[in-house]
Amino acid sequence: MHELSIAQSIYETVLREMEIRELAEVSTVGVRVGALSGVMADALQFSFEAIVIDSPLAGCKFTIEEIPVHGSCQSCGKAFVVKDFLFCCPICQSGQIEVTQGYELEIAYLEVRGKGEG
Ligand SMILES: [Zn+2]
Repeated sequence: MHELSIAQSIYETVLREMEIRELAEVSTVGVRVGALSGVMADALQFSFEAIVIDSPLAGCKFTIEEIPVHGSCQSCGKAFVVKDFLFCCPICQSGQIEVTQGYELEIAYLEVRGKGEG
């Protein structure tokens, strides 16, 4: 399962971040998943929750922001959201579309709890 290895690498990245930044506890991990990333958000969520059981991240919330596909027309310059994977400009019908968003697969933020200062 593809998502399991991705969840594992997100988990390891978060642990490394906690160590580097000396974070006591991360309460939420937020990630961005683009529609073209090939990742099923539900499966990723499920995998992450399974991994963090009995780990330093147990109880940590996992929030996925799904990013739709955004394209920019190379003919008329119009930027638009690509629906149903139709890579065709809604204004001039050109098929020359540059994908500007939709491949994201990244940690967007970490929410920290119990820092004890500031
Ligand atoms: Zn166009």
